[in-house]
Amino acid sequence: MYPPWTTPEDAARILQNGGIVAIPTETVYGLAGNAYDAKALAKIFEAKKRPHFDPLIVHIAALEELSHVASEIPEMAKKLAEAYWPGPLTLVLPKTERIPELATSGLPTVAVRFPSHPIAQQIIRLAKVPLAAPSANLFQHVSPTSAEHVAEQLGELIDGIVDGGPCGVGVESTIVAFTEKTPVILRPGGITPEMIQKVTGSISIRESKSNPKGPMLAPGMIDRHYRPQVPLFYGELPQNAKLPSGTVRIAFGHQTSAIPPTLNLSESGDVKEAAANLYAFMRLLDKAENRLILVDPIPNEGVGIACNDRLKRAAIRQLPESF
Ligand code: AMP
Ligand code: MG
Repeated sequence: MYPPWTTPEDAARILQNGGIVAIPTETVYGLAGNAYDAKALAKIFEAKKRPHFDPLIVHIAALEELSHVASEIPEMAKKLAEAYWPGPLTLVLPKTERIPELATSGLPTVAVRFPSHPIAQQIIRLAKVPLAAPSANLFQHVSPTSAEHVAEQLGELIDGIVDGGPCGVGVESTIVAFTEKTPVILRPGGITPEMIQKVTGSISIRESKSNPKGPMLAPGMIDRHYRPQVPLFYGELPQNAKLPSGTVRIAFGHQTSAIPPTLNLSESGDVKEAAANLYAFMRLLDKAENRLILVDPIPNEGVGIACNDRLKRAAIRQLPESF
């Protein structure tokens, strides 16, 4: 079915008519629908098999549009938006009436982002509405960082895919909420905690855990998120660990290991390069002939913090006794 990929003009038409289209952003590919159209939102949940308790992020393409979707903008949020928009930063703010409950899973707040990707901006502008867009993958699977990734998983289930090449950041946006005195990072992402702190002075970081009783307060809060089919182990291997044949290794820099590197996230040890490669490598090695994926430790700094967060969710807790 793909290629040919959908043009931004066709994508905007489809979106205006209530359809859903995968679009490139600088973080990962999003599955977009008109954020004001509850029927389009329902299609997003259905295609992704996403439970209705997991709210969506609404994307805008101009700072002025923020007041259409958010009813109150605290001073700190304004400062963060001025500093890092357009970019991989999502702000959780009280919602306006125009945003359907389905977009926010019944929460009084809406998650909003102004992406920097020129094609994402172009599509939002042409569609003339904000676009709700969670990552364009099946629920709990690895997020797509190329149009091909989207086509493999959702090609038959959605109305179009716009190709914008590989995503530059490669992990999802940083989500910040303002429900407490100090801004809270609900999910680490492309904008680092230091970058947030520089603007807000103080921050707290929410330990992300599933909230079994209500809507998810943040993303990928499910512990089993981003998990490939082939078991992925992240952490120090126990002494005398029995590794199956078909063990593959995602290396970072030049760390020593008994297993030769299969792929290297960044030869030069650059966490940004590692983030941009991470999901594509996880997908590449998620093949039946592989029995175990090992990933080298990534430094917990900069966007490496987001990589560690995702890898911990993707990983099995301990090695099985036998494979
Ligand atoms: P995804 O794009 O698939 O990573 O999903 C977007 C994430 O944003 C979801 O997993 C939500 O948990 C999070 N999110 C959306 N709206 C809110 C909100 N009002 N409060 C907190 N988190 C939110
Ligand atoms: Mg997702």
